[in-house]
Amino acid sequence: MAYRCVKCSYEIKKSEIPKRCPYCASEGTIEKIPTAQDVLDML
Ligand SMILES: [Zn+2]
Repeated sequence: MAYRCVKCSYEIKKSEIPKRCPYCASEGTIEKIPTAQDVLDML
């Protein structure tokens, strides 16, 4: 899974969504980056 901080655009690759950004230390700014499989699942 890949996540991105919407504040600083830092990308995180982890199995679970982190609570805070390891780069800018902001909380609640992490969002999941949709993968190709996610897009397929939405159809
Ligand atoms: Zn950040």
